[in-house]
Amino acid sequence: MNFKIIKRKKNSLARAGILETPHGNIETPAFVAVGTKATVKAVTPEQLQALGAQVVLANTYHLYLQPGAERIEKADGLGKFMNWPGPTMTDSGGFQVFSLGVAFGNKTSKIASSNFRGTGRFSSLYPSPQGGAGSDATENLPVPLQLSNLAKIDEDGVTFRSHLDGSEHRFTPEKSIEIQQKIGADIIFAFDECTSPEASYEYQKEAMARTHHWATRCLSKHQELKGEAALGNFYTRRSPPCPAGKGKAEKISECRQSLTNQQMLFGIVQGGRYEDLRKESVREISALGFDGFGIGGSFEKKDIATAVRWVNEILPEEKPRHLLGIGEPEDLIAAIENGCDLFDCVAPTRMARNGTLYTKGGRINITNAKFADDFFPIEKDCGCYTCQNFSRAYLAHLFRAKEILASTLASIHNLYYIINLVKTARQKILEDK
Ligand SMILES: [Zn+2]
Repeated sequence: MNFKIIKRKKNSLARAGILETPHGNIETPAFVAVGTKATVKAVTPEQLQALGAQVVLANTYHLYLQPGAERIEKADGLGKFMNWPGPTMTDSGGFQVFSLGVAFGNKTSKIASSNFRGTGRFSSLYPSPQGGAGSDATENLPVPLQLSNLAKIDEDGVTFRSHLDGSEHRFTPEKSIEIQQKIGADIIFAFDECTSPEASYEYQKEAMARTHHWATRCLSKHQELKGEAALGNFYTRRSPPCPAGKGKAEKISECRQSLTNQQMLFGIVQGGRYEDLRKESVREISALGFDGFGIGGSFEKKDIATAVRWVNEILPEEKPRHLLGIGEPEDLIAAIENGCDLFDCVAPTRMARNGTLYTKGGRINITNAKFADDFFPIEKDCGCYTCQNFSRAYLAHLFRAKEILASTLASIHNLYYIINLVKTARQKILEDK
């Protein structure tokens, strides 16, 4: 088994562990930096490593549309393509397909109204400071597309339109796994249906049954691809030879083969805010032989701890658990206390680009007038590159002058803050505190 629990906290579901991947170990609990389009916005991989990030998660939907999974495969996979040497993950693309397709005026979406901003899978739950809609997928939509219904769900998969050019595409469980295998991350996710926290019990039950059926298909496709990879000439047979010449192509082929052979697939537990559905979902998904689990939306912010506990009390202990799309500091602590190991969220970097910064005393907006003459760092005892070298006044100036370095420095601080918060929680578990 490639996941080891090294410490369990007394009277709690919290645990500290080590997840081994072909690109290095992840010490859990860990916050996963989100690099939606194969880049953590405004931050270089070197900066990301220096601030303590262990693992990056990219998005299947976005990379499939641009630059295309085949192109990433030709580059030897996601890590090589973006020059991130550590572990990588991709989500299944399900959330983006569903949030794009049914977000507007349909109860099956997580994005309940355009007065809410997205923070990943729990997009309907956090009021927006800007009043804008959406996740990374929706924030740049051209206006006519925002209002149209872009996706249709059936038992076999989802047909949707690209938010870039309106072209029609279709994801099935098999297609999602094929794309993720080409992208070549260390950890990938099964294709699931993401429901709204507002969806009725009946709809949650129906969607959950579909997610379970799709999970079985994802697992079979994953095993089939691994089997083909083990046979050897799979890649040279399928992909056009690398333009660099035969020798290089063979080497790349071997490399891809080993990426596929070692790729881990996580199944996703759904069931909304209903205890019986959540538990049924755990029983179904944990019986299937996944390498780990994703815990999907949707429940309300106040229910996160409870819903996560229902799930983690009965999930197999020895496999890693990733809470999808969660990243607010207080939610992370609640989820760690209740047995989650991994988290991802776009919030730290998205908020940073808007000038909203985390501090131990709460969020501040650096564009506020009072910071223009404040020559102290964002936080005096913060160890990040930004706080070690720059003042609030300088950052306030960069934001006002619309200098692009503002996004970089603010993102470095917010990522450092959130990654360090989770690292500190890990340390406390190790110390039984
Ligand atoms: Zn800092």
